[in-house]
Amino acid sequence: MSALSKLKEAYLCLKAGRVTLPYPARPQPVPPRFRGRPIFDANRCIGCAGCANNCPAREILVFDVCQEIRILKYLGRRCTYCGRCADLCPEKAITMSKDFETATPSIADLQQTLELFMSTCQRCGRCFKEPTPLEQLKLKGYRFDDLAHDRWIFRSKAYLEKDQVAGDIDLELD
Ligand code: SF4
Ligand code: SF4
Repeated sequence: MSALSKLKEAYLCLKAGRVTLPYPARPQPVPPRFRGRPIFDANRCIGCAGCANNCPAREILVFDVCQEIRILKYLGRRCTYCGRCADLCPEKAITMSKDFETATPSIADLQQTLELFMSTCQRCGRCFKEPTPLEQLKLKGYRFDDLAHDRWIFRSKAYLEKDQVAGDIDLELD
């Protein structure tokens, strides 16, 4: 092989482009419509529980501390970042962020808890008469989830069997 071809080969090697990315040293940009971890905005959320009721991974719990306070908790355990919650949120209170690097030694780093003030007149301080939207959810067999143990709990079997609501029967599905 001639010296010229050696030089040519060396030139081609120097000219070659990078074949690997500098990730994770440098963050990798994501496409514009990328769906990462959902972020909940407590200032926009009206506590309708639509996201919790439609999350296929059961990642969102609801619990009513009293008639006025509703807790909404995102668990961050098995969320698939499907974006269904953000799609159906009537108040656009959920943003699918660019955050996909969620490795952490503590699951609490990923969890979000919203404390929502519900169903009380801001002027007179009185509660609305039943059935409020909150009560309608309960009548559908909706649930008071078990926040302490991070579990879904339906309030009534009627929700599952489509019968008339008979009473409060705790049914653990998780
Ligand atoms: S992105 Fe999908 S899986 Fe995750 S909380 Fe929303 S609806 Fe549930
Ligand atoms: S769907 Fe939106 S407004 Fe309704 S509870 Fe979920 S985050 Fe709040």
